[in-house]
Amino acid sequence: MTAAHQPSHRRPVSRRVRRNRVIALSVLAAALAILLVVLVVNIAGGATPTPAAATKTPSATPSVTPTPTPTPTPTETVPVAPPAPPAFDKAAYSIDDPLSPWVVVNKTRPLNPVDYTPPDLVSVPVAHTWDPLLRAEAAAAIVQLFDTASAEAGLSLASNSAYRSYSSQVSVYNSEPDDSTTARPGYSEHQTGWTMDIGAESGNCSLNTCFGDTAEGQWLAANAYRFGFLLRYPADKVDVTGFSFEPWHYRYIGVPLATEMHNTGVTTLEEFFGLPAAPGYLN
Ligand code: ZN
Repeated sequence: MTAAHQPSHRRPVSRRVRRNRVIALSVLAAALAILLVVLVVNIAGGATPTPAAATKTPSATPSVTPTPTPTPTPTETVPVAPPAPPAFDKAAYSIDDPLSPWVVVNKTRPLNPVDYTPPDLVSVPVAHTWDPLLRAEAAAAIVQLFDTASAEAGLSLASNSAYRSYSSQVSVYNSEPDDSTTARPGYSEHQTGWTMDIGAESGNCSLNTCFGDTAEGQWLAANAYRFGFLLRYPADKVDVTGFSFEPWHYRYIGVPLATEMHNTGVTTLEEFFGLPAAPGYLN
């Protein structure tokens, strides 16, 4: 009975189970389908993201506010930056080439070649005791300087000496072989064509240290830089330049360098370019 009863009993049960399983699977499938539809609708409609984004927008606003706070810090650095001007380029011109307006000639730095002759000497149309020649650029600048001294201060200047050739420096040195006042041939700034000894047209104190106390000497000391000229041998720098105070000896170096030296208070080319002092000849 058990054997006969079992199969007949097993079949309806398994059928019922199978039916239940089918129903359960159908319900599960339906639930999955509904879930899928809900998900698709949410993603496509984007109803939920919109409020989320809206919530993010106000939260982004406070995070933007702290960003302007660091901005004042760069604003504070900006006013500090403008006062710092671009550094002066000390290598813009050669200090070795005799053609350069920055050439440094002293007792340890002779002209190279020693018998150098400037290429563009011109006659300078100013009052003079000796017919003055300078290189064209320096000549134009000195004419402006003389004109301005007359216009601004009513002063009449004159040239006492300008370009001197190697051979003429031989004569000058032989007539006054004093190393503290006269440069040896090949060691004179006058040979560059950039230099003029300036005096009063009256001749008062010409080529004398008392020229520094005259109105002309005072005006030159204060204003020559505006035209690119440097008082080359200051009273307090004899140990650096190797020359006694010469308030009449002006060297053309161009307006940018003359202005830079004036503004920084450096009075000799040796100091400005970091060159060794040249108190005397090496031999
Ligand atoms: Zn001189």
